[in-house]
Amino acid sequence: MILCSFRKVNSRCKFRYMAKQNPVKIGVIGVGHLGRFHVQQLSSIENVELLGIFDVNMAQCKNVSDEFSVPTFSDVEKLINVCDAVSIVTPTTYHFNTAMQALHGGCHVFIEKPITETISQAEQILELAESTNRIIQVGHIERFNPAFLHVKKQNLSPEFVEIHRLATFKRRGTDVPVILDLMIHDLDILLSMVNSPVKDIQACGVKVVSKTADIANARISFENGCVANVTASRISQGPMRKMRIFQEATYTTVDFLQKSVEIYNVLDEAPANADESFVFPLEGHDKKYIIYEKPEIIEHNALRQELYHFAKVIQDGERPDVDGQSAAAALHIALEIQKIIDKSIA
Ligand code: NAD
Repeated sequence: MILCSFRKVNSRCKFRYMAKQNPVKIGVIGVGHLGRFHVQQLSSIENVELLGIFDVNMAQCKNVSDEFSVPTFSDVEKLINVCDAVSIVTPTTYHFNTAMQALHGGCHVFIEKPITETISQAEQILELAESTNRIIQVGHIERFNPAFLHVKKQNLSPEFVEIHRLATFKRRGTDVPVILDLMIHDLDILLSMVNSPVKDIQACGVKVVSKTADIANARISFENGCVANVTASRISQGPMRKMRIFQEATYTTVDFLQKSVEIYNVLDEAPANADESFVFPLEGHDKKYIIYEKPEIIEHNALRQELYHFAKVIQDGERPDVDGQSAAAALHIALEIQKIIDKSIA
């Protein structure tokens, strides 16, 4: 039995109150590919004052500073000292040291996913955040995808989930195996939907291009009977990010890329006001109908929502939707999968 102790931890949740009208003073650490987008969004979010940026690559830091007219800091400590919060967008290997430094400096911390490379590092961050009363939010951005937000509202009880996250090969992100780079998004989504401890994991993976698994598959069984089949690849010809959720009388598909949702419900009676072109009598059943629905999803920028949420929870003294505990729980499952795969491909 694989238990996730992180999900149970949730204690104090009131942080230092900050008047709502005060924007949160934020700095960005690491302004490469994704960090640049953090700067772009944070420079125009109403509840944020972007105080500055730091990157060990000074040339990159200057480019981003010029593009968004944001001050650069040549010393990370100085940036931490003037900020209420920082966003850490360095490669994963540096998340731990940077987050600990920011927490010691009194900052709330947004850390890009995965939270850290190891569980022990995640635990140390959570402990320090707890003892210093600081917020940790982790960049599991798909939780803010408008398509997923629609599905989350349906309060599904998944019995079988099939997930595919496929990407073309890019050198960025290969500092960690595909499980920590891509599959972790889906593990976090899964744990947020299936309210049950993980019971068993089977997994396989293959190193095709890099030194760690580039394609991986995991079959995850939960104690409540739900089973998830999760596939992640960074060596595919084209991108795909899809989730299919099956439960009694309902089949739901989510396309994270297209930001669309399709729902098939099996009902005993067709609703009186249903559009007939979406009502299909179920063959062999006199009184069963399949009702198809493709709800309208209002697009929004998920990164902007996620960073706005971070600033808002700091202002309101609330706990974030994707807190450090849930990120650590996803990391825990990811590392279990990684361990199984490492044994088979060592
Ligand atoms: P990147 O290599 O493009 O950028 C990283 C930047 O950090 C570089 O400019 C580098 O110079 C800088 N850096 C390295 N060490 C540093 C340190 N100690 N202090 C300050 N700056 C440092 O990488 P990226 O693609 O932007 O990824 C960054 C992080 O974002 C990773 O953790 C990655 O997993 C995550 N990420 C998340 C998503 C998502 O969907 N949420 C997508 C892509 C990347």
